[in-house]
Amino acid sequence: MSGTSDGPAPAADLARSVVTESDNESPPHERTPPAAAARTQPGVEARTFRATFAAAPLPMAVVDREGLVVTANDTLAALLGAGPDGLTGRIAADLVDLASDARTWHAYREVLRGRQARLRCTRRLKHPDGHSLWVQVTVSPLPEEERAVLLSVSDISARHELQARLRHLQMHDPVTRLPNRTLFFERLSAALEPEAYEESGTGRIGVCYLDVDGFKAVNDTLGHRVGDRLLAAVAERLTRCADEAGYARTATPLVARLGGDEFALLVEDSTGTEQLAELAESVLGSLQAPFDLSGQRLSVSASIGVVERRAAGTTPTGLMQAADTTLYWAKADGKSRWTLFDPERNAHRMTRQALSSGLRPAIERGEFALEYQPLVGMEDGGVHGVEALVRWNHPQFGTLTPNRFIGLAEEDGSIVQLGRWVLATACKQARRWQLDHPDVPPVFVSVNVAVRQVWDSDLVADVATILAETGLAPHLLQLELTESAVMGSAGRPLQALQALSDMGVRIAIDDFGTGYSNLAYLSRLPVSVLKLDGSFVRGFQYEDAGDRSNPADEVIVEALIQLAHRLGLTVTAECVETSGQASRLRRIGCDTGQGWLYSRPVAPDRISALLTAEDCPQT
Ligand code: C2E
Ligand code: MG
Ligand code: MG
Repeated sequence: MSGTSDGPAPAADLARSVVTESDNESPPHERTPPAAAARTQPGVEARTFRATFAAAPLPMAVVDREGLVVTANDTLAALLGAGPDGLTGRIAADLVDLASDARTWHAYREVLRGRQARLRCTRRLKHPDGHSLWVQVTVSPLPEEERAVLLSVSDISARHELQARLRHLQMHDPVTRLPNRTLFFERLSAALEPEAYEESGTGRIGVCYLDVDGFKAVNDTLGHRVGDRLLAAVAERLTRCADEAGYARTATPLVARLGGDEFALLVEDSTGTEQLAELAESVLGSLQAPFDLSGQRLSVSASIGVVERRAAGTTPTGLMQAADTTLYWAKADGKSRWTLFDPERNAHRMTRQALSSGLRPAIERGEFALEYQPLVGMEDGGVHGVEALVRWNHPQFGTLTPNRFIGLAEEDGSIVQLGRWVLATACKQARRWQLDHPDVPPVFVSVNVAVRQVWDSDLVADVATILAETGLAPHLLQLELTESAVMGSAGRPLQALQALSDMGVRIAIDDFGTGYSNLAYLSRLPVSVLKLDGSFVRGFQYEDAGDRSNPADEVIVEALIQLAHRLGLTVTAECVETSGQASRLRRIGCDTGQGWLYSRPVAPDRISALLTAEDCPQT
């Protein structure tokens, strides 16, 4: 049993060798005086050091090269809950759990064999009385002592607990006591490590990303304390939902507060969208009952973005971005609901984003081009003018029509720059045609102008400059504005319209009839042309089918044209596609037509060709 059967205890040897060494190395004034030397006889020394070892506050043991405890001090015995002599002869590795992981075990063996200088590791031990403790174990060779190593154990339970508590604080939200964003992302990242899902489980992951509707109003009107209480109460209900979902499955979803009024429920090993939908449904249900916050009764709802997908190929940020987008949809679709991630809707959003961010550089790179669509006189069939329509030759998405990007350009303000380019290019082109075809009456160019151009740029100055630079006469330029841009205009926009009109530039109201314009009011504005929206003309399409046509449309349009004429406006019909429509429009007095019947929007040289044909009608 005992590893100390032969000769004196190695600990005593050790003690002696250390004393000898320290005596030799001490500076002269510290050398042991002769009187003291008498007291440091070998036997005395051994006893002293044995006593010191036994009483040392650091728990220690001397372990032989076979790994058996030669001697251990009382502190170690107390720490491990063993009797005074209970440790001698025991396998040291078992006492402090050195064999449970391969790396530590290997390092320990190396130290025992004298091939490694030291081993230090942290271990969780079970005390015989039931409590567990965290210790730091150090094993190092004894100097001058071939046959043994010193094992020391320090109790770091207090430090460890403090660290754990600190970590808990760092990882949890104080208001709701839920895991916070940091812990959420730590768990999410771990769940998306291939080792986590490849070996077992469904290989899928899901998240419900929730935002309390109208929380800001609660905070603003009732104060932050009520707001905090509400968040804590919401957290409680979410936790209950997660627990209930957990009963039915193997694992409980992790509920976390990601910040503000945003929460997330993470479902590892999800089984499919149904599971997440069920969870989202139960969460919405759980929030329906009003909250009683110390006297304040509050009803709230929430919006939830739900994403469920394969774990492989999913990144934490990718998943949360999708969840964020989906939450945004849930809000945009009317709040108080859950919405499932839709890849197509997302692709559309991505395209919007890609387009929007690419607008300004595209203007500089010259990716825009204009097509022109003839505006044809109803009586003579001649090309009187052309409307300039912008196209974006996108390097990635091909040719884009304005409906795809004009709205975006208006949103981010790049319409001002784009609009200026359109205006300059169209005027230059109109002047070019005029110079190239001196024998035909010059065609005017009609340019679409967005509301924001009237508000945010000096449209009047831009127009004046461009006309001066290109040499185009002002009456050969027409600007198309929508009803909404002109209606109720006062101040700056009205002044701008007036200044342009005074300059001789014509103003047309585009898509007329789609808004709520009052014709009498319009006539008081400096407007000279109404462009009748295509929807009116569409009602004419059954001319050839006789009884299937809608006479009401025709009556309305006829009255409208007559009224416009009486107010001094001319009328252009958009979207004329059939000769039937054209002849009826002509009959009721429409002045100009535009549409596929005459020509699609075309490149400038095609307009040149049309004008050449008009140059010499006989060819
Ligand atoms: P809009 O000013 O009403 O232009 C007429 C639109 O109707 C054009 O579409 C044209 O291609 C289309 N169209 C012409 N004839 C027919 C027809 O017979 N049948 C049908 N179904 N459609 C016809 P596009 O080129 O896609 O332009 C759409 C809108 O984009 C324009 O409507 C205009 O509001 C806007 N837009 C175009 N270019 C510009 C521009 O340079 N600046 C601004 N601010 N807006 C522009
Ligand atoms: Mg137009
Ligand atoms: Mg139009």
